[in-house]
Amino acid sequence: MIDLISDTVTKPTPQMRRAIAEAEVGDAQRGEDPTVNRLQDAVCELLGKDASLFLPSATMGNQIAYKVHTRHGDEIIMDRLSHPIHFEGGSPAFLSGVMICQMNGDRGVFTAEDVLAAIRPDDPHSPRTRLVSVENTHNLGGGKVWPLGKLLEVCEAAHENGLHVHMDGSRLMNAVVASGISARETTAGADSVTLCFSKGLGAPVGAALAGSKDFIKEARRCQQVFGGAMRQSGIIAAGALDGLQHHVERLIEDHGNARLLAERLAREDGIAVDPAEVETNIVYFRVDGTGMSAADFVARLKDRGVRMGAYKDGRIRAVTHLDVGESDIVKAVDAIHQMLADFDAARV
Ligand SMILES: *Cc1c(COP(=O)(O)O)cnc(C)c1O
Repeated sequence: MIDLISDTVTKPTPQMRRAIAEAEVGDAQRGEDPTVNRLQDAVCELLGKDASLFLPSATMGNQIAYKVHTRHGDEIIMDRLSHPIHFEGGSPAFLSGVMICQMNGDRGVFTAEDVLAAIRPDDPHSPRTRLVSVENTHNLGGGKVWPLGKLLEVCEAAHENGLHVHMDGSRLMNAVVASGISARETTAGADSVTLCFSKGLGAPVGAALAGSKDFIKEARRCQQVFGGAMRQSGIIAAGALDGLQHHVERLIEDHGNARLLAERLAREDGIAVDPAEVETNIVYFRVDGTGMSAADFVARLKDRGVRMGAYKDGRIRAVTHLDVGESDIVKAVDAIHQMLADFDAARV
């Protein structure tokens, strides 16, 4: 199976498994796991933040951030396609009792003007606007990288109005590699940042949340409340450290493979895709012109050994990662080409 369903499907490399097997461990909940501590230090260094926490998932990172930054009844500004709105089980409402003010951004990217227009008046009739949450890269936005200028303008607009900024940087390192702008610079305007190790970085489990010392002190309490404080979690932190050390620069290969996939797909009749929109490792395309629904296309393709995801809006998503190479991409497009030919032949 050539699995393009997500970059979460990567398996730890032999080297990563060795690092995991040999990890020094202790009781992380007491701050005594040396590998977790090393990872947290590495994240602070990478992002230029004062403190960080190792967590089981990026979902938990986002939800702890929302819990710390807001009070019940507050409002968070974020793009309408954001991960926490669609894929985190309703947790902003479930766990923090907040409302979301949805921006109509361009593939996940909105503007400082959008933020200013969305900020509520200081009036007891209105919810209190408290936080702006940006996603970088933007998943449903097609792996789009926030342009730094726009990002800084949004952060400035937020800060000038007393709001905090959270960055869901689950795929931050894809943004860093694609833009050539350091992680520190990319996250400089954000008060808190979530980073995921089990996406393109290829670790089996884990994420980090970073911010100021005061922010992380509160986050640590929420980690305990949400049941995310772990024990000998150096076992998994070792995988995350290995991913940070060895799998960042190579993300450029995933981006090249995604671009190649889009360019090849664009040659197929009935497939609509814009290769110029592929900035990182995510490709969205439509198959309306093939006579198949997205769900049907994906089901038939799976029978031919290639897995992709179909969305309700009719888009199909393919994600490149550590465990697929250029030759897999060529094979995947060949399988699609043959599938379309067979489908057309059967219709005549
Ligand atoms: C995957 C993802 C998450 C959640 O990550 P988990 O570690 O699976 O909980 C959050 N935000 C974005 C943008 C993601 O892509």
